[in-house]
Amino acid sequence: MEQPKRIVIIGAGTAGTIAANKIYKKAKKTKIPFEITVIDPTFKHVYQPGFLFTMFKKDKTHALIKDARKLLPKKVKTIQDKVVKLDTKEQLVTTEKGGVVPYDYLVIATGASIRTDVVDWWDDTIYHFYTPPEAERLSDQIVNFKGGKIVVAIADMPFKCPPAPIEACFLLDDYFKKKKLRDKVEITYASPLNRAFSIETANEVVQPILEKRGINLMTYFNVDEVDTEEKVVYSVEGDELDYDLLIMVPPHRGQKFLEEAGLTETGGWVKTDRFTLKVEGFDNIFALGDATNIPTSKAGSTAHYEAPTLAKNLVHEMKKDGIEEKYDGHVQCFFLTSFGRSLFLDFNYQNPPRPGKPSKFWWWFKLIFKPFYFRFVATGRV
Ligand SMILES: Cc1cc2nc3c(=O)[nH]c(=O)nc-3n(C[C@H](O)[C@H](O)[C@H](O)COP(=O)(O)OP(=O)(O)OC[C@H]3O[C@@H](n4cnc5c(N)ncnc54)[C@H](O)[C@@H]3O)c2cc1C
Repeated sequence: MEQPKRIVIIGAGTAGTIAANKIYKKAKKTKIPFEITVIDPTFKHVYQPGFLFTMFKKDKTHALIKDARKLLPKKVKTIQDKVVKLDTKEQLVTTEKGGVVPYDYLVIATGASIRTDVVDWWDDTIYHFYTPPEAERLSDQIVNFKGGKIVVAIADMPFKCPPAPIEACFLLDDYFKKKKLRDKVEITYASPLNRAFSIETANEVVQPILEKRGINLMTYFNVDEVDTEEKVVYSVEGDELDYDLLIMVPPHRGQKFLEEAGLTETGGWVKTDRFTLKVEGFDNIFALGDATNIPTSKAGSTAHYEAPTLAKNLVHEMKKDGIEEKYDGHVQCFFLTSFGRSLFLDFNYQNPPRPGKPSKFWWWFKLIFKPFYFRFVATGRV
């Protein structure tokens, strides 16, 4: 009897969970026997867009987390452990507890790690909203803030959800307006670029809103270091910003075991073909989501639109039919401009977004998206 093809997926976040569902559906339609194993140290599937609400105490952390095993097809095997080694020659994955898992096809969906340890000036007087405990810690600062200077800055690039720090500024503005404290709060957004937002067509809408709302924009501000005693952020370009509350997008990096396996470029991002989603040099290793070096947003929506292409190409490899599908770079995202309005960005490699005006419609869509995400997106139904 033919041995089942062993498909191993590392990571059960947005990318790994959607990929597992899509691959399962696609592979089931072939006559080829297969088994899928997903490996993750916690199987806590976190809906990260909710962190922007947690930082204002408008969403509870526990409401953002689901057991990933409940989002996977029942026949998918799971191993709760952390991958520490990948041997691409022998096609083996080794886990922290000493498990050795062989694969025929591998999917890397290990996301981006938050790595405040890579800069020596980071301490706990700097706040961020990129993990549940940190978003909660920041929320205490925000609700107790009575006035002063808030600086929102970016430690380095790339980082998850490029709109997030600007959304944070818009929400801070709205939050303090509603608390009748806005005239006592100065908000500054320090952008490493020559403009507020990376994508020019979206920036044409976003930057005027910052100006209209009295949010200072400091361009070409690449953070060099922070003096947390004097409360000053210094840029590589020679500028400085003093603050009372510093909110900083923390450094992001890829996973060490992928670097050690020789699959990554600077920062630990997996060298991935932006169309086929195959890892450079391999026909049986694929990557998607935040883990890759693909030149597009690190966003859940990117993983959502990558997953069908990845699933098809993996199954084409199983069938050895020589067909290759192409991911077109499709990404969609909500860009909150207040507690009540949002922009909607839809783009791909060829077509930049044309966001229109902030609307109540997209705000409500964003609010209902969380249950929709868990029910339909993560489970691969849409
Ligand atoms: C504040 C904020 C707001 C956001 N807003 C949006 C938004 O509005 N829209 C949007 O599309 N995206 C948004 N995102 C981005 C989105 O959440 C991520 O891009 C998405 O989660 C990426 O999915 P992923 O599976 O690649 O990574 P993750 O979801 O982070 O999952 C990675 C998984 O890999 C596992 N893993 C890591 N290392 C190992 C290992 N060694 N062995 C085994 N498993 C491992 C982890 O445990 C984790 O389960 C936002 C993110 C943040 C932080």
